[in-house]
Amino acid sequence: MYVVAITGGIGSGKTTVANQFAELGIEIIDADVIAREVVEPGMPALAAIRQHFGAGVLDEEGRLDRRRLRERVFSEPDAKGWLNALLHPLIRQEMQRQCAAARSPYCLLVVPLLVENRLTAMADRILVVDVDEETQITRTCRRDGVSRAQAKAIVAAQASRMARLAAADDIIENRDGAPEALRERILALHQTYLAFASQQARQV
Ligand code: ADP
Repeated sequence: MYVVAITGGIGSGKTTVANQFAELGIEIIDADVIAREVVEPGMPALAAIRQHFGAGVLDEEGRLDRRRLRERVFSEPDAKGWLNALLHPLIRQEMQRQCAAARSPYCLLVVPLLVENRLTAMADRILVVDVDEETQITRTCRRDGVSRAQAKAIVAAQASRMARLAAADDIIENRDGAPEALRERILALHQTYLAFASQQARQV
């Protein structure tokens, strides 16, 4: 399966872009969705988390209480490393499984932290959605109802624009407005990816 990974900072427009590829019939595999699935009740990772942190990180229904887990991760120096060592391989495996099972000519893997988590090798092609930080902050405040300071802090904690752009094979500039221009750019990239995917299929 030819895998196009799409990444970008918060509010850059990854979801907006991914939805348009989905409308073109491309299967979307979302790392954030998988990250939630691997800790659903009944999954081995949730049992491991319960054993490590205690039942205090679960809610009354036995689901992971993310707020409480976040508090533990902030207050315990080794907690983040332990969690990442548990979850990252599981998330990666599941992303690979879903990519391999995809039925469209290529698939789009949405990975917000592709650069931060060094996952660039999972993709045949990397598409970065890019916009200036001010626009990211404004959109994030509007969409999530967070304060400017919170939105700024999230942007600052992510990879820099430069680091992300350095990993890019293709870039979509997603400034406000101009939905037709965005649509055209996506259609052009779609044609390119279809060609790459069929080229790869011929070589196998
Ligand atoms: P991400 O998934 O990268 O966090 P989204 O696709 O959710 O970003 O976009 C963030 C917000 O900005 C959403 O509310 C979306 O509707 C809006 N948005 C995205 N692209 C544009 C655009 N080109 N012009 C105006 N608003 C946009």
